[in-house]
Amino acid sequence: MIKIDRKFCPYPKALKNKNYKHPTNKQALKESNSDKCMYCESKISHIDYAHVEHIKPKSKYQNLEFDWNNLGYACPKCNVEKNDKYYEDLPYINPYEEEPADFFYAFGKMLFKKDGSERAEITIKDINLNRPELLEKRFEKINSIERAITSCYRIKNASYRKVMLDELKNEASKDKEYSLFIKSFFKHHNLEE
Ligand SMILES: [Zn+2]
Repeated sequence: MIKIDRKFCPYPKALKNKNYKHPTNKQALKESNSDKCMYCESKISHIDYAHVEHIKPKSKYQNLEFDWNNLGYACPKCNVEKNDKYYEDLPYINPYEEEPADFFYAFGKMLFKKDGSERAEITIKDINLNRPELLEKRFEKINSIERAITSCYRIKNASYRKVMLDELKNEASKDKEYSLFIKSFFKHHNLEE
């Protein structure tokens, strides 16, 4: 999970008309998220249909069903895992409003809570953010980057090597899948900017 800036609602009239998944508004959420799930950072469109997620579930917060600030962009798996769970006194970390790095850290392919945060723990547990298929995808991504780094270090020309390494660092940018994990990998290998 990484911080996301939610764009302004381009078509508020749809929300007024009780439509929370109007394509224009859904597109704005998709762009805000770089087409990644707000919880697990998986790219969505090319594998599955994205869900318009109610951060506070619509079953319990009917007044927020058409509230732009309660809408997010999530993959079907996270959406189903979370379902209509929500604890008023232990809310899930909200990447649109909080800095997830204050609550979580990545190590290898695993996501951990920071400083004993109970909210981070319940978020990981309830949305199942270390589920096997996520671990596998993060592992594959880290592995391919590790291989690319190794081949970079085989380049003899120092300038060329630097260009290639810098290009590789783009993989940690926020529009890339699992960027939190890649960033942590680079940090661990002293390849940070
Ligand atoms: Zn997800």
